[in-house]
Amino acid sequence: MKYQVRKASGGKRIVSFQCPACSSEIESPLEDAGQAFDCPSCAHKFVTPGLPEMQQWRNEQIEAEAKRTEEQRAREARAAEMNRVKAETAAQQRAAAAKAAAEPPSYSDITDGAKLLRFLAASSTPSPSSLCLGASCWPG
Ligand SMILES: [Zn+2]
Repeated sequence: MKYQVRKASGGKRIVSFQCPACSSEIESPLEDAGQAFDCPSCAHKFVTPGLPEMQQWRNEQIEAEAKRTEEQRAREARAAEMNRVKAETAAQQRAAAAKAAAEPPSYSDITDGAKLLRFLAASSTPSPSSLCLGASCWPG
């Protein structure tokens, strides 16, 4: 039996052929290939053609699905890697901040009284017992 397979909308495939008994033009979904068919004109029973095309189409769908799954997996792997790098960077920033908080400031950091107090508290430098300005000293 001669037949043709064409693409239809929605990713469907249509197989078109002629009834072997009355030569009526018949169209059938490709997924019905290999199944018994009654001619709507003469009720002649035959098997819908297009089985090799249907199997090839099924294989194409399976391959396309496998490709989609693989692409999805690759996207997820990229997202996981990005999250990992982000978490690593955040951990490094936290560690740097913790280290900076733990270390006493150096002289060059001392820009206000609070830092001076922290420096004096953290360093072994003894607090000045007197403050001298020129010749006059306090507490004298
Ligand atoms: Zn027929």
